[in-house]
Amino acid sequence: MCQASHLSSPTFRAASLFYASGSRAQTSGKFISGCIRQLRCCKVVRQYVGRRLTHELAIRQRNTEFFQKFRPNRLCLVSTPHNFSRSLSLSRLSSEEFDVVVIGGGITGAGVVLDAASRGLRACLLERDDFASGTSSKSSKLIHGGLRYLQQGDVRLVYQALRERKRLRRNAPHLVHVLPFMIPILTKNSVVSKKIARALGSAMWMYDLTGGWRIGRLHRRLSADAAFAHLPTMSREKLSSAYMYYDAEADDARLTLSVLRSAADNGAAIANQCRVEGIDSVNRTQHSVRVHDIVGDTHFAIRTKAVINATGVWADDVRALDEASHPDTIRPAKGVHLTVPWEKVRNDIAVVIPVPSDKRSLFVVPWISRGDGTYQFTYIGTTDTDYKGPVNDPQCTRDDIEYVLAALNASVNTDVTLEDVTGVWSGLRPLVKMDDSSAKAGRTADLSRRHRVFTSDNGVVTVTGGKLTTYREMAEDAVDAVSEVLGTKTRCRTKSMSLHGAKGRSIRASQRDHHLDGRFGSDSADIAALIANDPSLSGPLVDGLPYLRAEAVYAVTHEMATSIDDILSRRTRARLLNRRASVSAARATADLISPLLGWDDAQCSASIAEFIDACAREDAAAMVTEQEFIDSHKG
Ligand SMILES: Cc1cc2nc3c(=O)[nH]c(=O)nc-3n(C[C@H](O)[C@H](O)[C@H](O)COP(=O)(O)OP(=O)(O)OC[C@H]3O[C@@H](n4cnc5c(N)ncnc54)[C@H](O)[C@@H]3O)c2cc1C
Repeated sequence: MCQASHLSSPTFRAASLFYASGSRAQTSGKFISGCIRQLRCCKVVRQYVGRRLTHELAIRQRNTEFFQKFRPNRLCLVSTPHNFSRSLSLSRLSSEEFDVVVIGGGITGAGVVLDAASRGLRACLLERDDFASGTSSKSSKLIHGGLRYLQQGDVRLVYQALRERKRLRRNAPHLVHVLPFMIPILTKNSVVSKKIARALGSAMWMYDLTGGWRIGRLHRRLSADAAFAHLPTMSREKLSSAYMYYDAEADDARLTLSVLRSAADNGAAIANQCRVEGIDSVNRTQHSVRVHDIVGDTHFAIRTKAVINATGVWADDVRALDEASHPDTIRPAKGVHLTVPWEKVRNDIAVVIPVPSDKRSLFVVPWISRGDGTYQFTYIGTTDTDYKGPVNDPQCTRDDIEYVLAALNASVNTDVTLEDVTGVWSGLRPLVKMDDSSAKAGRTADLSRRHRVFTSDNGVVTVTGGKLTTYREMAEDAVDAVSEVLGTKTRCRTKSMSLHGAKGRSIRASQRDHHLDGRFGSDSADIAALIANDPSLSGPLVDGLPYLRAEAVYAVTHEMATSIDDILSRRTRARLLNRRASVSAARATADLISPLLGWDDAQCSASIAEFIDACAREDAAAMVTEQEFIDSHKG
């Protein structure tokens, strides 16, 4: 069934384009050349489908042999061919010619490759590490307009983001969930005065009018008692009342993966662990992209008509490959989050808390529902500071932790300390530098979150800035820019396109179904099938966390995970929730996935060591100041 659906889509698209163009321009010469183009396209599709089938059958044969030998009871799913396969993509990347090569497998690149493939362009994407391993797994995980951008006067950004929020809720209902927020209003002697409360009331109306209403609910005022019930660790005397409004949340790394899988469903070739090391341009529509496959340690080149650079905070480095000088347009802004046990905060909705002596606020978000109104964790973030350290490995330092805990402890009375922190993550916003000097000197928090699309003299398109929430619109603009370079007219099709996993979702009967459905959508049936074949896979992957062993198997067989870090940091979010428990689970995870990846003992140990090292770096960074951390990376 899986095979039929992925094979039919490109063929069907080519066929429907053929008929559509025919009815519009039957008598013109344009129609004839259109037909020839489409016929060629059909031929390409047929060749592509043929190659894909042969390759998939080879993979299927190999997997079948392996599972017959070692794991007969896990045979059913792993041997089912599917289109999100690294080896399949690599063989296509080294043999086919493309219309568009997308560099960077964060949410922006994912959106771009989906947009391009769904317009009928032959598209591929290369990610040098793992999908979403950059900023796109380290956000606050909110699909929102951003109340504070409204307060900064950026009405257009908020309007666009809230429109995208609505689309995302419709296109990915399995991943994007409504999240109520509360802004407590504190009594006179505390941080927020009644005057500010009135101003806040106006801001809430503005938010609703700008598009907040699209979620189907307007903001409302809560009594002090009602507010206290949502955050019982706050001192009741401090509370005067609160505002409640609605936004949405999504697991950023899983959203990125779902967008990438949708692109593969539309015929795109996608590979992680493939670093782009050079862009050679003959002219604006003839390029060769040089790639290093890190897993196989091989090099190859891809011929393409267009290149889109969607590499976030690395965008200038990739532009330098094309423009021969470093343009220095990105101003990285660091943001950290801390995870603590939910019992320390006991908020049943997200809460916005003020940061004393700073004109900022933090989100306090409950995470991992137990299904009875309680949660396992709460995360708090985010900071927003200029970043001067190594872009490849930003860390949450002692300064960051003290800042966040000071703000939290000013709002709750449970005295949360460093020892309570079970996980941290730190990401870099790829903010675009502003031209005027006053903005250059200003705080990163005041820089616009709007995106920019830039086309170089060679025709290479770069898309930077923006937000997780607005990725689809960024992608549309970037592919429009490519169409301009190519001199073609194509229409964006992603506005109402369901993302992978959105259709045919399971009924949430049990807490386990709920967990799987909210992460895999319709693919949760595949996880259930794995478990039905091997009940041991229903066991927990990491002690105390809801992830199942079957999810690790599926991550390797269907989600291109190639390391323990991929599984514990992004396919599941175990490391962000509980780092120590994740380290303890590294060996068992390795034992589970080693045979699937064909690892020998050395490769298995190397992946465990790499994960433990990354966790140790997080532990170490928590002990030093920001300056000490930066100094230790100098030279
Ligand atoms: C702390 C924080 C909180 C945030 N919270 C929110 C939020 O709640 N809501 C929201 O809407 N937005 C939020 N954002 C913004 C949002 O997360 C980012 O705008 C978005 O994730 C950027 O995605 P990207 O794809 O552009 O970059 P990235 O995710 O960084 O992706 C770029 C990718 O390019 C790859 N790459 C680099 N060089 C190469 C190369 N040579 N070859 C191949 N690949 C390469 C990298 O490995 C990386 O995976 C937040 C950002 C931060 C930092």
